[in-house]
Amino acid sequence: MVIVKMENSLLIAGSIAIDDIETPLDNRVNILGGSVTHALIPSGKRVSVFPVGIIGSDFPEKGFEIYKTYSETMENVQQISGQTFKWGGRYHENWDQRDTLFTALGVFENYNPVLSDSARNANVVFLANIHPKLQLSVLDQCTNHQIVITDSMNLWIDTANDDLLKVLKRTNIFLINEEESQQLTSHPILEDAANQLLQMGPDTIIIKKGSSGSVIISADDCTSIPAVSNVSVVDPTGAGDTFGGGMAASLVLRDSLLDAVAEGTAWASVCVEGFGIEKTMHTDEVEISRRKAEVLSGVSTC
Ligand code: AMP
Repeated sequence: MVIVKMENSLLIAGSIAIDDIETPLDNRVNILGGSVTHALIPSGKRVSVFPVGIIGSDFPEKGFEIYKTYSETMENVQQISGQTFKWGGRYHENWDQRDTLFTALGVFENYNPVLSDSARNANVVFLANIHPKLQLSVLDQCTNHQIVITDSMNLWIDTANDDLLKVLKRTNIFLINEEESQQLTSHPILEDAANQLLQMGPDTIIIKKGSSGSVIISADDCTSIPAVSNVSVVDPTGAGDTFGGGMAASLVLRDSLLDAVAEGTAWASVCVEGFGIEKTMHTDEVEISRRKAEVLSGVSTC
């Protein structure tokens, strides 16, 4: 067997979805979404990305075009007959809260990922939001990874806690939002929650705080990262995944963690300015550099 070494490459596993989104100002139906999709756009602009997931027979031609543009190869995106993962969400008037209207797993229901040799050899693995059993299955097949970044959500904390804990044992950087960190640890205070999360396996916890930025916490360090200012929010969906994708690409390029988080923050601020991936797709490095510089100028120790 010939093993292809991809020294600077990123594997992203998670959901590939069709979303229906309702915001206080506007709605969209049947738009391309999913954790992999949101993470792929900012990372695929900079490094070789191997997206891993499954789609149904209803996956739109435009979706294929977008995936082909940003992926190294689509050989790890399986297509079978059935319905693509479908998710619907509605934002409250304050934009901070969101209700899930439905989650239809569709073809993800019985999905068993089998990775190509080149995908197994990616040196950074981003386990974006999906059932932790699938995250474990992907991780079991990876052979060359130096960094594992994991994201999850309240649904899996509630329904697949044991599997999530197994993933965390093998995770270097865990991305989680404030509410989920409290849910997973039962600690209301962010620093206490992060300290307990560090005991679960990761060396670094990144707590995402939406429009209040994020905090990077490790055993001997706590750094506060601001969000980009003056952002006009159109649709917050996928901000966390976009953050993760932007950050992961920087780590593939061996930037410092602080730089990588600032890059992720810049991309997340772009994501929320359009529905789905529309704004992320049409933003270039010049705009990202400007936003990233603003973020880095506001970093502080916490
Ligand atoms: P975020 O706003 O960062 O939570 O990401 C929203 C994206 O995640 C949407 O595009 C959804 O299709 C996708 N999503 C929603 N629920 C799930 C789930 N249970 N597992 C995986 N992906 C999901």
